[in-house]
Amino acid sequence: MIAMVIPIVIALTATATYEKDAVQTTAGEIEITFIGHSSLIFTHHGKTIFIDPYGKLAEYSSFPKADIILVTHDHSDHLDTTAIGKIRNEGTQLVTTVLGAQKVTGAIIMNNGDTCQIGDIKIEAVPAYNIRHMRDNGLPFHPKGDGNGYVLTIGEKRIYIAGDTDDIPEMSHLDNIDIAFLPMNLPYTMTPEETAAAARSFMPKVLYPYHTGETDTKKLVKLLGASPEIEVRIRHMK
Ligand code: ZN
Ligand code: ZN
Repeated sequence: MIAMVIPIVIALTATATYEKDAVQTTAGEIEITFIGHSSLIFTHHGKTIFIDPYGKLAEYSSFPKADIILVTHDHSDHLDTTAIGKIRNEGTQLVTTVLGAQKVTGAIIMNNGDTCQIGDIKIEAVPAYNIRHMRDNGLPFHPKGDGNGYVLTIGEKRIYIAGDTDDIPEMSHLDNIDIAFLPMNLPYTMTPEETAAAARSFMPKVLYPYHTGETDTKKLVKLLGASPEIEVRIRHMK
């Protein structure tokens, strides 16, 4: 009997299901798969783009090979070399920071302010750092310049993946963001109040709080109730 049960459990694990949303653009549909934490998958025109793949959340060998992997910074829950190894092949473009590139081979390094084009996707690297969330020694969990957020332009749609960051002043310079992912993992990133202020500084059409840890996402929904221009979508992104 045991021999019959085990394969069924393995099969269920391999076919784990994740929440997905579809976004329509002038260049065709983007499918967003919500893996959890700060891990996302975008699928567009048969290309697969992974954000911060993290092996604790999913069996990455069960996914298609990556066309693009974007890594926001070198913390181990964002840069997981084992998960990357399972989805990377010769054709994969791996984009990360200077510090991230020290942990992998052959990466494309992007600094804050850099822009690159991969296929029909424009990628901008933007700052991601702490201004108030500090370690006990007074240094930020995320020093300025070490990490990236990314703004992807696909068709006419602009998607901002903030990385690990506070509500930094540079966010107010973000233009025409259709979809934003903002982190609320305390004490490392933003409170619901800071996340609401961050969103109001650049007014995305859709906001997904992500990398939410134990933070109550309902608080954010309530805080942004006064800004109906921003549609807050809650997905399982603990
Ligand atoms: Zn981090
Ligand atoms: Zn993090």
